[in-house]
Amino acid sequence: MLFNELNLPEEILRAVEDMGFSEATEIQSKAIPVMLEGKDLVGKSNTGTGKTAAFGIPAAVSVTRGGKNGVEVLILCPTRELAMQACKEIEKFSAYMPWVKPCAVYGGAAMDKQISELRRGANIVVGTPGRVMDHIGRKTLKLENLRTIVLDEADEMLNMGFREDIETILSFVPEERQTVLFSATMPPPIMAITKEYQNDPVVIKVESKARTVDTIEQKYFEVPMGRKTDALKLLLIAYEPKLSMVFCNTKKMVDELTEALVSKGFKAAGLHGDMKQASRTQVLSAFKSGSINVLIATDVAARGIDVEGVDCVFNYDLPQDNEYYIHRIGRTGRAGRTGRAFTLVVGKEIYKLKDIQRYCKTKIRRQPIPSVNDVAAIKVEKLLEQAGE
Ligand code: ADP
Ligand code: MG
Repeated sequence: MLFNELNLPEEILRAVEDMGFSEATEIQSKAIPVMLEGKDLVGKSNTGTGKTAAFGIPAAVSVTRGGKNGVEVLILCPTRELAMQACKEIEKFSAYMPWVKPCAVYGGAAMDKQISELRRGANIVVGTPGRVMDHIGRKTLKLENLRTIVLDEADEMLNMGFREDIETILSFVPEERQTVLFSATMPPPIMAITKEYQNDPVVIKVESKARTVDTIEQKYFEVPMGRKTDALKLLLIAYEPKLSMVFCNTKKMVDELTEALVSKGFKAAGLHGDMKQASRTQVLSAFKSGSINVLIATDVAARGIDVEGVDCVFNYDLPQDNEYYIHRIGRTGRAGRTGRAFTLVVGKEIYKLKDIQRYCKTKIRRQPIPSVNDVAAIKVEKLLEQAGE
């Protein structure tokens, strides 16, 4: 379904377009109308299916324009990262609605900054249960005009032991309210919350699996004909991935590329179906131990390989099958870690890439191949990132 079929204000449509979204995901198509009607809702849908927009867009729409009602929407998330992320996304959805003021509150950060943001008229608060309780206790967060409360990743919040906090928070919010719950799974404790705190909720279950993982930064690089190997080398030097996987479509390409990288001193090795089992096992264990850090493989040879800590996936060749794109990039960004997926495209392959984007419902952003200066800048940024960890 297209976003413009969802009866959304023009400001939202523009913002969503800026974000590169064209079609709404299934959970979005189903949940947005229900939320806009003000009904209670339970939404079950896997990670990566776009739940943030499913509640974030209606949240932005529901805020009273020019109102001074204080906090109208409260969104609870299990972790600080998720709270920050959801808040940033809501900022984007409301880019053309200056009256919408989202604010993130989470532990491990200074109170005063959050307090002054709340005082400046925040009307959507996204926070972790602990810190939200803290602000309620200090009366820096007032919920008497709250109209909607959203429990995002409700199952995860319960797993993390937030049940009591959530119940306390629910007891502080007006009874006349909309209660929305999103969860990837629906175990009995979730059903119990639903029963106790929701009023005749609409249940929406989406069975489709996640298309792509949101912890993966996806980029593509347009490369002149015949320069893919050079581009790959530059990217490896610039980003210094600890472990990377490079996908090629043929065994021959795997061999040629491996040779080209090894001859330039990269710790690379190839993996494909013509190799003997013993040498495949050897390559894999070298990769797992890190003595080889660039693994070049065909889709078939790499099937089922699950190595922890792969931080970068390269599509040296575009995958032949759109579904492969998801499998390939899924080797990185696992277990809550971030990862990168870089795709090299030559000439008309850009159209195939657009097709992959549509199929995977994802946004792959264009990035220029780094120049030598860029390589230096990327390294500085990386050092700063490490220093800040
Ligand atoms: P979930 O909460 O279900 O795990 P997110 O809301 O974090 O999923 O969304 C996952 C990724 O998909 C994010 O990068 C988001 O920007 C992107 N996304 C969400 N909705 C759409 C859409 N309709 N079209 C394209 N990308 C989308
Ligand atoms: Mg989410």
